[in-house]
Amino acid sequence: MSERRAFLKSLVAAAVPRNEEPAEPDPWLERYSRQLVLPQWSEAAQRALGEASVLVVGAGALGSPVATYLAGAGVGRLGIADDGDVELSNLHRQHLHFTPDVGVPKAHSAAAKLSFLNPDVVVEPYQARFNAAMLEGQDLVVDCTDSFAARYAINAACCAAGAPLVEAGVVGTSGLVMSIRPGATACYRCAFPQEPPAGAAPTCAQAGVLGPAAGVIGSLQALEALKLLAGLPGALADEFLQVDLAAGEFVHVKVRRRQDCPDCGSA
Ligand SMILES: [Zn+2]
Repeated sequence: MSERRAFLKSLVAAAVPRNEEPAEPDPWLERYSRQLVLPQWSEAAQRALGEASVLVVGAGALGSPVATYLAGAGVGRLGIADDGDVELSNLHRQHLHFTPDVGVPKAHSAAAKLSFLNPDVVVEPYQARFNAAMLEGQDLVVDCTDSFAARYAINAACCAAGAPLVEAGVVGTSGLVMSIRPGATACYRCAFPQEPPAGAAPTCAQAGVLGPAAGVIGSLQALEALKLLAGLPGALADEFLQVDLAAGEFVHVKVRRRQDCPDCGSA
């Protein structure tokens, strides 16, 4: 406790200029001061975050808030994988990309903004679809893709590699978020054993999506990622959060690990 008090005192000293002997504020303390003062955060959590490597798959509607908040929070290394280029129809919901970026690879457009936001973060753009080799050295994966095929492939690869994963999807004004710790909690395939047949579920191009809806779901994903990385309480486990933003409803849906799950089961 006294150690924490001394640390908080140094935070205040960094933030409040004194008349006599003006001290140079520590930019590290200043940058992260508003999360460092949180009772559930700590200097150790911040240092650990700075050592962490996270792969964000998809630099679109979900990837924009996820990568923004993770870079801002001080994740040490952030991989951004996306094989697409910025399109005009992306801009209403994908806030890492601006009008002059149309035609630019999304991974590079996103990486440029993230480096401006926090130059302490090593941002590695991959102009490619997800492949399992990208999991090498990653402490966490955040799936921000928009197809069921990609979602199942990423879940299977993360289960095989033992990499924690935060899944999400959004369409229209609703979505879901699920955190997965392979071997400890139900995986995406435990919750949804059958991939929907091609064309059965509407895409954003068919059904539309509101920008703020993607922003909320992506922010929840970033929050889950920070909980897992910093060991904060309250991460989703053996459940997914179903969000209906038109109605303002958040529902926790319990799921069970399946022993016969082809991705994470032990059978
Ligand atoms: Zn499973």
